[in-house]
Amino acid sequence: MNSPADRRQNPADHHQNPTDGYRDLAARYGTPLYVYDLDRVEESRRALAGSLPEGFEIFYALKANPHPDIARALREGAGPACRAEISSAGELASALSAGYNAGECLYTGPGKTPAELEHAIGEGVRMFSVESYTDLQHVGAAAIRHGVVAKCLLRINSAGTKAATTGIRMMGKPSQFGIDSETLPELMPQLLAVPGTRVVGAHFFTMSNAVDENGLVGEFEQTVAAAARLAEEVGLPLEFLDIGGGFSSPYAVPGERADYPKLAAELERILDLHLPRWRSGTPHLAVESGRYLVGSSGYLLASVVNIKDSRGSRFVILDSGINVLGGLSGLGRLLPAAVQLDGAEPDGVASLVGPLCTPGDSLGRDVRLPALEPGDVIVVPNVGAYGVSASLQGFLSRPVAVEAVVRGGQVVSATQLVPVRTEVPAVAVS
Ligand SMILES: *Cc1c(COP(=O)(O)O)cnc(C)c1O
Repeated sequence: MNSPADRRQNPADHHQNPTDGYRDLAARYGTPLYVYDLDRVEESRRALAGSLPEGFEIFYALKANPHPDIARALREGAGPACRAEISSAGELASALSAGYNAGECLYTGPGKTPAELEHAIGEGVRMFSVESYTDLQHVGAAAIRHGVVAKCLLRINSAGTKAATTGIRMMGKPSQFGIDSETLPELMPQLLAVPGTRVVGAHFFTMSNAVDENGLVGEFEQTVAAAARLAEEVGLPLEFLDIGGGFSSPYAVPGERADYPKLAAELERILDLHLPRWRSGTPHLAVESGRYLVGSSGYLLASVVNIKDSRGSRFVILDSGINVLGGLSGLGRLLPAAVQLDGAEPDGVASLVGPLCTPGDSLGRDVRLPALEPGDVIVVPNVGAYGVSASLQGFLSRPVAVEAVVRGGQVVSATQLVPVRTEVPAVAVS
């Protein structure tokens, strides 16, 4: 199944097929095994940086994969370093251990607790995306306790925007994310006067995994136009503007991450039109990405435990289910029943299921699979993002995956994120 002729027949395989070497790793480490290729992480970073105008910052959203070796690869090496977008004390710890300075982090999220704000500011984080007036007050209170001023981006939930290209009116929906833009005229004076904070700009994040380049460009056009309008009409400060993301990458199916050949020129056109001082650094601009930067760097190796036929349907039962590969419940999305495998010489279709005691533990229906028997190892491609970090690791208490990181064909680390039950001080029930 891996002869050169077979590979040529599969257009998804135009990069060197690394699967054979990874099978050796599975034999040594066992399965479930994730393999992350840092060379591919760096390729993705170069591709994204090359798709943007000069001067854009890229925030790496650690929720896609907080592994410190991956986060480190996105900061080090040739080319502009990514900054870290974090949303918990755990992600902050990962970023710091990956070599990011606290000052390079943007702390986001709708539920920042006083304790985590206290901790983040104590560690030196100074930039926050705030989702409401009260969230801004919480940041300010923690900053004051540390005698510092926190720079804040107002995350905006844009109300109706008229897409110039389509004329379709898109209403902003109710959301726990962002400040409703129509409330800004009234709210702005209060937002600008919260002690311990300085509002320096805005943060938009309107979509994930855009289907195509035109969709992405259209979204950025609306975002930039909305930011410029709010700056002009309600005095939204715009030293810094994070226009969000939506850069796409396949998930658990073969294929390559998207190419954006027109994006840099289109962004320049949009910025020249709406924010003509951007070329001299006002505002300072940023995008953010998780999946595009790391999705294509990861592979999951899983073992076939059993094969079972039931009423005319075949089930291939793996040692790895949604406990290992993104249940994605946290993303408001069940794992799409859509796993497909790289380079599989189809022998038929089957349901690919995990070992958990729930019918929800399905990685794919009608998956084209090679002839398999118990003990065989399958390789799921493009799971460097939202693999371990979006999996139901606690469910059924099964072994967690080993995560092996490779660079230049060499293993640089192999670790396991093992949950440990620890004692907390006893308290009386009152
Ligand atoms: C999840 C998230 C991202 C990353 O999304 P991807 O689709 O992985 O690029 C970026 N920014 C914010 C605010 C997010 O919540």
